[in-house]
Amino acid sequence: MNEAANGNYLDVQGLVKYFGSDRAVDGISFGVPKGRFLTLLGPSGCGKTTTLMCIAGLHKPDAGEISVGGALFTSVSQRAYLPPEKRDIGMVFQSYAIWPHMTVTQNVAYPLEIRKLSHSEIGDRVAEALRLVGLSDMAGKLATNLSGGQQQRAALARAIVFRPRLLLFDEPLSNLDLKLREQMRVELKRIQHEVGITSVYVTHDQSEALVMSDDIIVMSKGVIQQTGGPHAIYARPLNRFVSNFIGVANLLDGRIVRVFGPGRGEIEVAQGGDKVRLPCLLADGIGEGSEAVLSVRPENVDALRDPQGLGAGIRGEVIQTIFLGNCQDCRVRWGDFEWKVLAHSRERLRPGDRVYLRLDPEHTLAVRP
Ligand code: ATP
Repeated sequence: MNEAANGNYLDVQGLVKYFGSDRAVDGISFGVPKGRFLTLLGPSGCGKTTTLMCIAGLHKPDAGEISVGGALFTSVSQRAYLPPEKRDIGMVFQSYAIWPHMTVTQNVAYPLEIRKLSHSEIGDRVAEALRLVGLSDMAGKLATNLSGGQQQRAALARAIVFRPRLLLFDEPLSNLDLKLREQMRVELKRIQHEVGITSVYVTHDQSEALVMSDDIIVMSKGVIQQTGGPHAIYARPLNRFVSNFIGVANLLDGRIVRVFGPGRGEIEVAQGGDKVRLPCLLADGIGEGSEAVLSVRPENVDALRDPQGLGAGIRGEVIQTIFLGNCQDCRVRWGDFEWKVLAHSRERLRPGDRVYLRLDPEHTLAVRP
């Protein structure tokens, strides 16, 4: 057997970790099927690294169970705890953590030497790992003579060379400059896909999570806010925290005044004496009479100068426009609220223009407060 009963290769159940009286991780459960790439995403201090360290065995949790490939790594109730060196986990951290006095080859060979593989096997595996990360030409160089991006590739080669059961990444790209970071995201994902090792990746960078992940867990204050694929997390956030943390959203407090059918209804929002009702999609757990938050992304709002025939709705004043070529990034004041709008550039909006805001009903969400 190499999977938990629920089909997950990595299975985490009811994980709790205290530091003093602070609950850094507050009873989270999740799983990762074999070969998948899962990202723990959330702001600083939300418990991502602590979760990763519990999986690695570098922190002992206060409650919960962790198993990998059917092997029990940690169970607080059963008093089971496999030491980190027996977990066979590859790790890549923010700091490159490669040894400066060794060559690239020596660095990458190290995990195989401590596992006492034969010389020829070590030679073959190191060559293969360096090929995968694109460092074959650097094999004989001292690690300190590599650039930051190359050092991180070497660290990755060292993490995969012994074919670990699991790969853990803790903000591995955050010391690289933006351009390199963007390039490495794609590279890292390609390499993970090629080696097929189940991976857990920690980041506070939402665009990194969206680009790289098969699945994302959004965390805040030690708990899971939402789990889903990148598209679902972006397009169907469940609550205000996720809407706000991932991408840009217009968020307005409101109330559900009607429910039409499964997952559809009407939300009422009010500003400066204006009150409007808007058709929307309802997040799970929201019904008639619920307090809810209207959540609409700027690309799903259009600002039209000529509102003829559009009836009642949100009418505001343009207070700022930035021309972006294919669209205009606008701010539109409605009472005390400023809408962020990516308007079609044919409208040629200017500050002072009175506009009608058209919200795409298929992307107008009512989410939990
Ligand atoms: P960051 O991205 O800043 O590392 P994070 O989401 O990974 O944040 P954690 O490092 O897991 O968050 O920290 C979660 C909470 O636990 C924080 O409040 C942090 O201060 C606390 N914490 C983490 N490690 C320790 C420790 N060794 N001793 C005491 N408190 C800790």
